[in-house]
Amino acid sequence: MPTVAYISHPDVGRHDTGWAHPEHVGRIRAIPRALRYDPELFHLLDHREARHASHEELALAHDPTYVAMVEELAEQGGARLDADTVVSAGSWAAATAGTGAVLEGLDLAFGDGARRSFCAVRPPGHHALRNGGMGFCLFGNVGVGAHYARVRHGAERVLIVDWDVHHGNGTQALVQDTNDIRFVSMHQWPWYPGTGAATDRGPHANVWNVPMEAGLAREHYVSAFLSAVDSATVGFVPDVVLLSAGFDSLAGDPLGGFTLEMDDVERLTTEMVSRAEQWCGGRLVSALEGGYAPDRLGEACVRHMRALL
Ligand SMILES: [Zn+2]
Repeated sequence: MPTVAYISHPDVGRHDTGWAHPEHVGRIRAIPRALRYDPELFHLLDHREARHASHEELALAHDPTYVAMVEELAEQGGARLDADTVVSAGSWAAATAGTGAVLEGLDLAFGDGARRSFCAVRPPGHHALRNGGMGFCLFGNVGVGAHYARVRHGAERVLIVDWDVHHGNGTQALVQDTNDIRFVSMHQWPWYPGTGAATDRGPHANVWNVPMEAGLAREHYVSAFLSAVDSATVGFVPDVVLLSAGFDSLAGDPLGGFTLEMDDVERLTTEMVSRAEQWCGGRLVSALEGGYAPDRLGEACVRHMRALL
């Protein structure tokens, strides 16, 4: 039984933002391309096709009228929700497959399947709000997943960690009112979307925001992230870990100024895996967020999945 599932769906390629948009379909194609250069890893993974999240599942964290609006806009051929956030004809299928991948990863982790999974999905999710898309994101894949783990699988405590270079403001909004979900986000500051101050702990102090300057030495980001994770889990043993894996925190990303390298992806992943092993039998579901240099993104996903193993 493989310990790591690789979950995706052809529909995630149907979210058509245009090639001039940084979040274009070439990002997702870079992942299987990179995986082909690592046949050993390819054969070790449990390859799974995602299911599509249902309206009811999306409504665990989103306003049902917003969910219906996205579906309707896609059916009508698409629209722009803001300057950066596109709904195309294929976006409903893509976005529901993206969230569905995370739910599938949770079903495996809490059932008889792989303890850990990586969800190669787009659009990303961590900026999506309860009643609106934002920052390339339509549905909060990880935020919905956290509520799903509680409702469907009886998880009492859920930890979400987010190392995307941008603040996971959507995830925070979707989970901060639920005490037993804790959220750790490290992000560039000041930077898009402008939220995520260290003093913003949410109304129940279950949020750990770690704003960081651009251009610091790599080790600062790694140690700040891990120490926030450790603070967030004092007296709190999660039943599952959800990871917002944004690879725009790597050096050279066109949308970020962090300096992480592939070795840091491996280190951060390994550290989270060993914590998950201690806390909850290794249950960890990772979902792709940002990462806008496709070749670097593909390589990072491979290193990440190797470390998940
Ligand atoms: Zn990002």
